[in-house]
Amino acid sequence: MKIAILPGDGIGTEIVAQAVRVLGVLDLPFELETALVGGVAYEAHGHPLPESTLKLAQAADAVLFGAVGDWKYDTLERALRPEQAILGLRKHLGLFANFRPAICYEQLTHASSLKPELVSGLDILIIRELTGDIYFGQPRGRRESPDGAFKGAPEAFDTMRYSRPEIERIAHVAFQAARMRGKRLTSVDKANVLETFQFWKDIVTEVHAEYPDVVLDHMYVDNAAMQLVRAPKKFDVIVTGNMFGDILSDEAAMLTGSIGMLPSASLNAAGKGLYEPSHGSAPDIAGKNLANPLATILSAAMMLRFSLNQIAAADRIESAVQHVLASGLRTADIWSEGTAKVGTIQMGDAVVAALSGNITKKAIKG
Ligand code: NAD
Repeated sequence: MKIAILPGDGIGTEIVAQAVRVLGVLDLPFELETALVGGVAYEAHGHPLPESTLKLAQAADAVLFGAVGDWKYDTLERALRPEQAILGLRKHLGLFANFRPAICYEQLTHASSLKPELVSGLDILIIRELTGDIYFGQPRGRRESPDGAFKGAPEAFDTMRYSRPEIERIAHVAFQAARMRGKRLTSVDKANVLETFQFWKDIVTEVHAEYPDVVLDHMYVDNAAMQLVRAPKKFDVIVTGNMFGDILSDEAAMLTGSIGMLPSASLNAAGKGLYEPSHGSAPDIAGKNLANPLATILSAAMMLRFSLNQIAAADRIESAVQHVLASGLRTADIWSEGTAKVGTIQMGDAVVAALSGNITKKAIKG
């Protein structure tokens, strides 16, 4: 199992280091190779996604990614900015399905912006299509104002589009994911207004014929946005297009309390994926042993489950994280009165100890 390790910038190196330690205690035959990506790659090689890094990612069975970016690169031309590395990896690896689980850990129920009873036990999965929709439609542009500038232009437009294969493949991924969970799939669309999403709805319904064991329902996006804050636990798996998924996954993320807890995966047709925390490089806390490494550690668990077929090991990591939270350890972002504040490394220590079946008082004190 070859894993490309791309820590990136800011807190990326700190949080990925903890995930690598966790992988190290699983006693599985991993081959890990690390490469530069983002701003640090630009500094060393003049490009945020150097050829050598891309080759490593292409040759690996999975990619574990930290985060990229820093405000100091904001003046660079767009093609050389650290964030371009993620877009390049998505494109070259054909990553089209973005998985964002939103799990509210019992111990963090009070960190959510919703009432505890609404989120207690929440465990939903949002699957967002990544390659189509209005973000990549043609034509796109604006009618120029007489001087060619945007200011004063009379209109601007983007075109929403999806192809049949794009919808079919994301639908298959979603039904298969639902099969591995509660066997319920909600397809979110806007079929009442948009032709593209009537097309989406029809195709998801067609694909459903191959998954009779999964219960499918359809929901308009405006209603889905409302239901996510009214009764989020009613959902199991949600599948939707690129733009609706972008918005709904951030909405769902906030149900769980902290961005430092949220893993994500982007998969291609072969099941290969890029696994990363949902947050960025947090330059404000980088290098201070303050970052929460749990989103990255949970991303490593997703990698084991979805790309490396190591379901038992993924379960072990997730239980270890639960165990550590139950023991009262918290990084600053999830800390509350009555819990013990620890740093990035100490949180990593505690997960490693829990995995070794050894969550001791020493680890808790650590
Ligand atoms: P951010 O997610 O990096 O940080 C937002 C806030 O959340 C900050 O206050 C930060 O301290 C906090 N935070 C984030 N992760 C945390 C963690 N693990 N533990 C504790 N606190 C955490 O977003 P931003 O500040 O808007 O962006 C910073 C840089 O990251 C920018 O250059 C941006 O482009 C980049 N970025 C990269 C990715 C990525 O690599 N996938 C995603 C988003 C933003």
